Amino acid sequence: MNNKEIISLRPHHCMCIQFFEGKGYNKEFVNNLSELVRILEETDPVVQLTEGCDDICRCCPENIGGVCRTAEKVSGIDRRCTETAGLEQDGQYRWSVLRDTVREKIISSGNPAQVCLDCCWLEICI
Ligand code: SF4
Ligand code: SF4
Repeated sequence: MNNKEIISLRPHHCMCIQFFEGKGYNKEFVNNLSELVRILEETDPVVQLTEGCDDICRCCPENIGGVCRTAEKVSGIDRRCTETAGLEQDGQYRWSVLRDTVREKIISSGNPAQVCLDCCWLEICI
């Protein structure tokens, strides 16, 4: 990945990134996510929201042939995330707009529990 690419993100990953503390499924996943966070914060690129596997999922062991092992569950989190934040599921936004919108409408408004409800990391994030 280089700094000029459009980055693809599932909507709910705009929340997860803001709770990232260097932990994850394995070293490859953590290294990839750390690099993504660096690019997002240093270059404020355009982000393409996507319903499928994204630039975080591509290094995730739960990604089986391009499909998340818990696809149904994460799709529900994506849907609640876009509805609560007022985002288009397949929209393009600057990272700073996504970050600030999700922070304001979900994280700072006390809504993560309703959006993330069946995520196994919920207790850690909250
Ligand atoms: S668990 Fe699924 S949605 Fe989350 S990063 Fe892995 S493949 Fe992507
Ligand atoms: S609880 Fe899960 S979906 Fe919600 S921000 Fe944390 S890791 Fe992401």
